[in-house]
Amino acid sequence: MGTMAYYVGVDLGATNVRSVVGDDDGTILGEARDNTPRGPTGIAITEAVLGVVREACAEAGIDPSDAVAAGIGAIGPLDLAEGAVENPANLPDTIDRIPLTGPLSVLLETDEVYLHNDTNAGVIGERFHSDRNPDDMVYLTISSGIGAGVCVDGHVLAGWDGNAGEVGHLTLDPNGFMTCGCGHNGHWEGYCSGNNIPKYARELHEEDPVDTELPVSDPDFSAVDVFEHAGEDEFADHIINQLGHWNAMGVANIVHAYAPLIIYVGGAVALNNPDLVLEPIREQMSEMVMSNIPEIQLTTLGDEVVVEGALASAMTGGTGDRSRL
Ligand SMILES: [Zn+2]
Repeated sequence: MGTMAYYVGVDLGATNVRSVVGDDDGTILGEARDNTPRGPTGIAITEAVLGVVREACAEAGIDPSDAVAAGIGAIGPLDLAEGAVENPANLPDTIDRIPLTGPLSVLLETDEVYLHNDTNAGVIGERFHSDRNPDDMVYLTISSGIGAGVCVDGHVLAGWDGNAGEVGHLTLDPNGFMTCGCGHNGHWEGYCSGNNIPKYARELHEEDPVDTELPVSDPDFSAVDVFEHAGEDEFADHIINQLGHWNAMGVANIVHAYAPLIIYVGGAVALNNPDLVLEPIREQMSEMVMSNIPEIQLTTLGDEVVVEGALASAMTGGTGDRSRL
């Protein structure tokens, strides 16, 4: 007894915060989750993170100081030098900074705390758990936002501030028909994220008010409505075609920039509609890509991908590389 090593993984999302505790086989021994507080400041979110970590440790039957390392997959943007989230886009404006690395280091009594944006945690999770995990791979999430975690030549790209892979803010539409949540026009996410699909559908309908079963003027109109009407409503199919076109263009940009062998796709929009989201991307690759076309697959880890990646990061010195176990 006493030789077992324990690791902590944290998934900090805009809606939920989760923590898991695993042993050195990656077996989950404890788990806890909470709603992400809406404020009043970022400190409230820091406290929620520490709260779920304490709870997960208690469920695992360990003291937080027994953990040897932790990984965090967090909403962006990050300030990696400060170990914090800085002005998160999808939380209220009063939340400016969410300190993470420092407070978690203090709680766990270890300096080994690895902070990643959530999509980087995603690619670390795929690297660690997938049967097919070449040195060149991408995890792409199409969820309330769009982003990618990119592994090139065996290195997970972070960028100096931790914000590499913010591909949802690639400009796809030079005419800037839609404004992104970040305030800029023509970004991929402004068309295709779960939050923006209904806004995009409304704008298209305003331009050309065709007959449709879709409740476009209902305030609760959502991306779910659009996909539910696939094959039954011409306007819904038109939107899905447009989304497929923008998604394929975004993925083609990722392929040209990073040359992955495989792209794993996750996030609620893709997980709930795998064929309607992935097929149009696969179909359009040969028209858009001048280099090798990667395999495009749904993530094998579902919505566990970020928290599993955070735990895998803790176990592998921040890399997801299984040879470092
Ligand atoms: Zn943007």
